[in-house]
Formats: sequence, C-alpha cells, structure tokens
Amino acid sequence: MTTHAATTLSPDDIARFGADPAGTFAANLQTVQARIAAACRRCGRDPASVRLLPVTKTVPAHILRLAFSAGIADFGENKLQEARDKQAALADLPIRWNIIGHLQTNKVKYLVRLASAFHALDSLRLAEELNRRLEAQGRDLDVFVQVNTSGEDSKYGLHPEALLPFVERLPDYPRLKPRGLMTLAIFSADVERVRECFRLLRALRDRAARVHPGLTGLSMGMSGDYEIAIEEGASVVRVGQAIFGARPTSDAFYWPGLA
Ligand SMILES: *Cc1c(COP(=O)(O)O)cnc(C)c1O
Repeated sequence: MTTHAATTLSPDDIARFGADPAGTFAANLQTVQARIAAACRRCGRDPASVRLLPVTKTVPAHILRLAFSAGIADFGENKLQEARDKQAALADLPIRWNIIGHLQTNKVKYLVRLASAFHALDSLRLAEELNRRLEAQGRDLDVFVQVNTSGEDSKYGLHPEALLPFVERLPDYPRLKPRGLMTLAIFSADVERVRECFRLLRALRDRAARVHPGLTGLSMGMSGDYEIAIEEGASVVRVGQAIFGARPTSDAFYWPGLA
C-alpha cells in the first residue's frame, strides 16, 4: 500500500493524531478488540458474535486513508453531509459506509447512494422514502431501528411503546432489510442506569424478533460503555474515540439539547 507514505501530516494532524496515526489506530484497535474479547469471556459469549464498527466522525478524509491502511474498512458516520464529502475523497477505496445518526427525509437520496447500512431508522415516513429511493436504485439496505431507551429528549429514536406497531409495518418496505435495534444509552457515570438502557433494548428486541424474524441484532455501546453493552447482548458496538482519540467537537453537536 502506497497510500500510507503519500499522506503529509500537518502540525494540527500531528497534535491530534500523533506522528504515526496508522500505527496508533492499529494499536488502539487491538486494545479495543482485546477488551471486547475479555467482555465476551466474562459473560460466556463468542467474541465472533460482536462486530466492532469504528466511528470516524470528525476524523478528516486524509487521516481516514491511513485508518484504511491500518485495516479499518467499515466506517460509521453520524452526519450524512460529512459522509458524502469523505466518500467523494475516498472513492478509490472499498469502504463500507454506515450512517449511524438521525436522517432528515430530504437527505435520503444521498444516503441510498453511499450507505451499506443505516442504524437510525426512527419513523415510517423515513422508511417509506428510503424504500422508494432504494427501489429506484434497485438495491436493498440493512437497517437498525433506533429506540430511545433513556427517555431523554436529546436522544432520537422511537418511544419503546411505539416499537411493535412500527415493526409490524416494516414488511410494507421490502427494500429495507431490518437487522436489529439500535440505541444510545443515557450519558451517566451511574453504570446501572446505563445498563438499564441496554437491558431494555434487548427485551424489546426479544419481542420485536417474534414479529419480524430479521430483527436479531443489537447495535449498542460506544467508547465509554461498550463492555457493558456486550454483557447485555450487543452484536454491534459503535466505537470512535477509543480508536481515533478524543473529538474536538462537543457531543452537543450530535445530540442537540445535551447540556
Ligand atoms: C459518535 C457516535 C458513537 C461513538 O461515540 P464514541 O464516544 O466516539 O465512541 C456511537 N454512536 C453514535 C450514534 C455516534 O454518533
């Protein structure tokens, strides 16, 4: 791979990612994988049943080129515009783009052009528009249904009580391939409150999977709580900062209303 040598790092890049971003990311990835494996052992799960989805938001495209050379090919992006810009800059690489943030209906056409999976399906209107655009493109899309398990206004997602009626409607949108449920736990230092969110999602999944057999997955857990999520059954953990370092932007940018 020559991509590695071709990237010139600015002083800002070095301040944020160090002099050897690819080496740092590879080492961080190993650490996270080892912790995933350890969490699986603690609760008797097969580590192969947990997929790590690296979250690349705010990491610039030229740095992501280095991440790709370090073996990362699945990228999770919260904002569609950012994903589009990066996809254009990295179109020569076989990257799988996963959109993990809330989507406005008027952006659906861009999503269906680039995304391998969408983790934040939260309305029938969106399902309908996605299905329509996918049909026009002649393709399917893996989706996770987002549920608000913390009750916080700052979080997107369906109310837990709205989930089953929503799931019953999914067969109306045959281009959507439902893979499971997704949530963001409450941001709290109280581990039990975080765990409650993951437990609730798992209980909802057990019920939803009886209505729609494709809904087996659980996309839950981030840098601060992925080990708890694995103990509660996560099949996909979405991890950014533990791999790419702290983000310069505040989380309020992604979750409006957050203090
Ligand atoms: C940013 C983000 C993550 C990852 O958060 P980290 O703290 O960087 O691990 C996970 N899920 C969603 C929806 C995100 O926007």
